[in-house]
Amino acid sequence: MKSPVHRCRDVERQASNLQLDPCVPPPRLSDTGAMWFVRDACGIVCGVITWFLVFYAEFVVLFVMLLPSKNLTYSLVNGVVFNGLAFFALASHFRAMCTDPGAVPKGNATKEFIESLQLKPGQVVYKCPKCCSIKPDRAHHCSVCKRCIRKMDHHCPWVNNCVGETNQKYFVLFTMYIALISLHCLLMVVFHFLYCFEDDWTKCSSFSPPATVILLILLCFEGLLFLIFTSVMFGTQVHSICTDETGIERLKGETATWEKLSCWEAMKAAFGGPFSLSWFSPFSELTCRRTPLEQVPPAPPGDIIEEDVIEIPYER
Ligand SMILES: [Zn+2]
Ligand SMILES: [Zn+2]
Repeated sequence: MKSPVHRCRDVERQASNLQLDPCVPPPRLSDTGAMWFVRDACGIVCGVITWFLVFYAEFVVLFVMLLPSKNLTYSLVNGVVFNGLAFFALASHFRAMCTDPGAVPKGNATKEFIESLQLKPGQVVYKCPKCCSIKPDRAHHCSVCKRCIRKMDHHCPWVNNCVGETNQKYFVLFTMYIALISLHCLLMVVFHFLYCFEDDWTKCSSFSPPATVILLILLCFEGLLFLIFTSVMFGTQVHSICTDETGIERLKGETATWEKLSCWEAMKAAFGGPFSLSWFSPFSELTCRRTPLEQVPPAPPGDIIEEDVIEIPYER
């Protein structure tokens, strides 16, 4: 029997949502403490490939180009710059992969939780029928993460995670550092080819000339491919932040019901504070904006409400 306090309307019910696993009580442990990691085989494989490609570039840069070089200053400067950028790229990848993107607590659509929100009469809240949580504004359900994610932009298999409110900074840094190491690689390959053409091919690398050419051409392809891909992603992400509109909202053509921030305010919110060097560090923590629903204490245990749209009635 429906509670009179929580009179409900069955609207926006989709056929795909009608045959779902029954809602389970909130998992008490998974939402606290444990490191975030999405168990998706495709994403894990893509993540491992990403690390492998960075290590391949490291190998060619160090053992084919820099160590055999006779110019110590050239090797030292390029070695420090390349390794520094590669380290930041991998650190950003790790943070993007293992940071909770802004998951809404699972199974908090209980009567007690809704009462604790102290909503105003006439206010409507939405329940996600897939993960049985109360959906804050701008949250979307991700079928890979199996959770509703606040300000979800997209699910990226390369970082095996959703890009959302609390890990977007790390994803932007990841695309930026990968674009920078790709550009750096390409410049070094061009210089190395010129150097080898002028000098004797047998002396410009510790590998045989055919092996050197193959390793350099493969690195060239990798660098070009990732330079284009990550530059486009970086530009798209910065545009999304600046316009305060996620990729999903843009795709769906959703009209903004939220108060849009100015470009600079949105950048400060995404990067965790006023402009400083910490914007470029994958190790600095975020002090990001929280949606009103998230400020409420965790849901008390209780029976999960069955309806997808819950309207708080006006008092008589
Ligand atoms: Zn959901
Ligand atoms: Zn996801």
